[in-house]
Amino acid sequence: MKVAVVGTGYVGLVTGVVLAHLGNDVVCVDKDPAKVEKLRNGIPPIYEPGIEEMLKKTIEDGFFQITDSISDAVETAEVVFIAVGTPPGPDGTPDLTAVRAVAKGIGQSIRKPTVVVNKSTVPVGSGELVEKLIIEAGADPALVNVVSNPEFLREGSAIHDTLNPDRIVIGAKNQAAAQKLVELYSTLNATTVITDLESAELIKYASNSFLALKISFINAVSRICELSGGNVEDVAKGMGLDKRIGSQFLQAGLGWGGSCFPKDVLGTVTVAESLGYDFALLKEVIAINDDQTLNFVRRLDARLGGLAGKRIGIMGLAFKPNTDDIRDAKSLIIIEEILKAGGSVTAHDPIATELVRAIFPTVDYRESIYEVSHEADALVMVTEWNEYRHLDLQRLAKAMKTPILFDGRRCYKK
Ligand code: NAD
Repeated sequence: MKVAVVGTGYVGLVTGVVLAHLGNDVVCVDKDPAKVEKLRNGIPPIYEPGIEEMLKKTIEDGFFQITDSISDAVETAEVVFIAVGTPPGPDGTPDLTAVRAVAKGIGQSIRKPTVVVNKSTVPVGSGELVEKLIIEAGADPALVNVVSNPEFLREGSAIHDTLNPDRIVIGAKNQAAAQKLVELYSTLNATTVITDLESAELIKYASNSFLALKISFINAVSRICELSGGNVEDVAKGMGLDKRIGSQFLQAGLGWGGSCFPKDVLGTVTVAESLGYDFALLKEVIAINDDQTLNFVRRLDARLGGLAGKRIGIMGLAFKPNTDDIRDAKSLIIIEEILKAGGSVTAHDPIATELVRAIFPTVDYRESIYEVSHEADALVMVTEWNEYRHLDLQRLAKAMKTPILFDGRRCYKK
């Protein structure tokens, strides 16, 4: 099938490359000339395991092309994906500026029947909005079908997740448009949920909000454990074995961060508010999460007798392992709090260092954890990269001023 994908970030690029890998003719579009230039040379502008090899192969085989022109990509495509960012606006409402711009560009370019697929995470009602904008931009309404197909991939395992989705959600106004996507995904072995546009849009926000709620819940339980002497790992294990609860997303720690949960939970709260519903439960989920990170720093401060003049080694900067994404990463809050309290920071991350350097230029970035541990008053595990799970603890302890490891991700047994 001829497919266009607008936006070559974590979602768009993975979607484009995987669809090309499955034998579709894919043209990806991005407005960022630096990204387009890299992709032309087979270099992915993001870090994602496996993407580079798959990108190079699909370019070689002639299934993947890149352009900066929406019209070039849209004119020939049967299906056009919108996969641009929807970051939170100043009040937390998802900012649809990029989605609007792309809808306009698509509307100016459609010449034949086209299914336009919203893959970006967008508030309920956005499918209708995109259709309206496309038609206002000049497209013949008879040629346009807007479909919602929210994305559930996880950074760090995005290719695997795209090839092996738990479910495919398709929200459409008519069966023919939905069937076009069913056909596109026919080689994937996944349960497909076909529904209306609004429900599909809500499935994405409700899913992320529910997962965030689970993490905040176990973090609240961890606070009771701290106060009472209980062991939250055992509590989570005992809870998770109940099939109705399940063990996933029940790990207490620094809380949720990253490019999706913070903005989608806040987006759910603000969108609910705009519709007249006060989603107080989710507001508390956010409050618990925010305090969880600050409580971690408070405990570090208490253990060290104050952070002023202390040298803290940060293990991991990306918001989770196997990605270079630092959007809403816990490392950013922890570094800021330590610096504010008068401490100094040395840090290591296998791939995300340069992105954090742009935000905190005074931090001392090192090539290895053993260098970070040198003369440190404490080490703080923020991102549980695999390489941090098998460290020579004796060697670390010897290098440190005081051998204290604050493990925010429960990688090591006490
Ligand atoms: P991203 O910021 O990594 O990528 C967005 C890309 O769109 C950028 O390359 C940007 O240059 C490009 N772009 C912006 N405006 C454009 C325009 N007018 N024309 C062409 N290109 C344009 O974003 P992402 O992380 O890939 O997320 C995209 C969407 O998918 C968001 O709505 C997000 O919530 C959702 N989502 C993300 C993930 C994830 O793990 N990252 C998972 C599921 C859903």
